[in-house]
Amino acid sequence: MTPELLDWRHAQVGDPAPCVLCRSPALMRDPDTNQPKHKVCAEQALAARKRAENEAA
Ligand SMILES: [Zn+2]
Repeated sequence: MTPELLDWRHAQVGDPAPCVLCRSPALMRDPDTNQPKHKVCAEQALAARKRAENEAA
């Protein structure tokens, strides 16, 4: 299964801040929540959430 890719072309870029998912410094801001986050981390979290939903169904 191919992981879903997020469209972060309009994401804000700021000073390095700890990614909310992996705690490493991230420049990108999540377009939805404005939290510092790596795009790859957001995609992995999204994939994990979808997997969990599929298992629950
Ligand atoms: Zn991260």
